[in-house]
Amino acid sequence: MKQYEHYFFDLDGTLINGEGLLPYAKELISCLRKQKKQVFFLTNHPVRSRRVLTNDLQELGLDIFYDELITPIMGLKEYFAPRNKDSRKLYVAGSKMIKEELREQGFTVVDEHASEEPKNIAVVLGMTPDLTYNQLQVGFWLMQQGAELILLNGDLLCPHPKGFLIDTGSLARVLEHKDKKPVIVGKPSYWMQQALLRAMRGNVENAVIIGDSLTSDIGIGNSLNIDTVLVCSGVTSIHQMQHAVQLPTVIFPSVREIYQLIKG
Ligand SMILES: [Mg+2]
Repeated sequence: MKQYEHYFFDLDGTLINGEGLLPYAKELISCLRKQKKQVFFLTNHPVRSRRVLTNDLQELGLDIFYDELITPIMGLKEYFAPRNKDSRKLYVAGSKMIKEELREQGFTVVDEHASEEPKNIAVVLGMTPDLTYNQLQVGFWLMQQGAELILLNGDLLCPHPKGFLIDTGSLARVLEHKDKKPVIVGKPSYWMQQALLRAMRGNVENAVIIGDSLTSDIGIGNSLNIDTVLVCSGVTSIHQMQHAVQLPTVIFPSVREIYQLIKG
């Protein structure tokens, strides 16, 4: 495997699973740090804030810093970067933590009683276990009056020890308007691509993305012309490669093999 300067790791199915860190995830990250490589962590997770997620990952034993975690909020910031500040009023059908984080990032988060013109409001949808019918309905009213819909991620399902969870992309089907496509800010969207380019300062030849999903991890890498590594420790099995549209640069069973190559 080639040596890179910037390593982007997907989290679920790559470095962690429902039970904790996957074998050699910790060792691989420490080894890259010793080699002075730049490490980033990528996730489409729509519930916890960046700060809480960073703390939780540190508690699992992962050597991760707040600034290295790239979540859909970074994609959302890229989407709004070239836009007028007045267009930044957000109605969030999602978790409390996401609302707080958006406020921290300088966005105005409005509630259902907002006096704003709906066309100046964006409805931000993110799956969360405490999402209510009322949040969805208020978002839907706003959209009928001209608000745009932004999805924290476009994933239909999220792997869970019991099977799958209904993810943001599936919930969006309830809200989708006939002639208006939602804006997606998570992996592999254009806006998340901009967040990655910013992190690596455009140095695409020296970057690699390591992940378990062909559509989101390998997909975003291919869109950016960045090398990719597929690990088969998550949602993709080696047998699925026969029909794959998105092809990785390299395939490994897990991060263990990457660690063995990198440690020399
Ligand atoms: Mg994954």
